[in-house]
Amino acid sequence: MVSRRMLLGALASGLAAPALAWAEGDGPTPSVLTRKGRRTRRALKTQAADKAALDKTLAQVKPLEDPDAVEPAEVHPPQAVSPDEALGRLKQGNAIFARGGSSIVLPSMVRIAELSRGQKPFAVIVGCSDSRVGPELVFDCNLGELFVVRVAGSTVSQEGLGSIVYAVEHLGAPLVVVLGHTKCGAVGAAVDVATKHADLHGSLLNMVLPIIPAVLEAQEKHPADLQDAAIRQNVRDVAARLKVADGTLAEKQAEGRLKIVSATYDLASGVVAFDA
Ligand SMILES: [Zn+2]
Repeated sequence: MVSRRMLLGALASGLAAPALAWAEGDGPTPSVLTRKGRRTRRALKTQAADKAALDKTLAQVKPLEDPDAVEPAEVHPPQAVSPDEALGRLKQGNAIFARGGSSIVLPSMVRIAELSRGQKPFAVIVGCSDSRVGPELVFDCNLGELFVVRVAGSTVSQEGLGSIVYAVEHLGAPLVVVLGHTKCGAVGAAVDVATKHADLHGSLLNMVLPIIPAVLEAQEKHPADLQDAAIRQNVRDVAARLKVADGTLAEKQAEGRLKIVSATYDLASGVVAFDA
């Protein structure tokens, strides 16, 4: 069995594709009896060299740690952080990302086994489903660090609210960030429905309806760019609604153990602008 780590090692050395093709028989048939003899032999020679190089690479890969061999003493539960510390971490992580960097190392099997015993994410991200705004990447975070709720338009349904309350109440997350992004298509659709009576139906209309109040609010301010203003208004509105949507969230905020803030990710620069 080829482990993920092994595969990554092989990918890094550019060998995985030919090696897998070879293993799966997708390459030239390894029959040296065909009439295309010379070409086939040359191909086979190359494959053999690739295979040898792959074997050499795999031989250097450390064997998988046995998750069962991890003693409880080796488990390091993350320290509880305050809402401001959590916010600072996200800002710092985004600063690294927006400079084109990353501090993320794929988790070891030991760490994965550790995480199977429980999670303590330091922030909840309520984000848009947009493929360009992956929270873990944007905030330079690893497995187990963010609890993510994503719907196009960064809105929150009852089920989404339950997910947020669960993360705050049971996992101890001290921070909720409602994250929108520039050029959000869901907000753009809501703008079209509100201003051009665009014809949306069924599920798509249901998706944009919760965004319409933010569009109307933004419209009153006569912005130069209505879609951009509506995007920023929408995340502010969702955050404001969350603050009073649930008793547990309200209680934690009153005790200073939870902050709920809004933010907007700029697709072009990679920078997240926080409203707090
Ligand atoms: Zn979006």
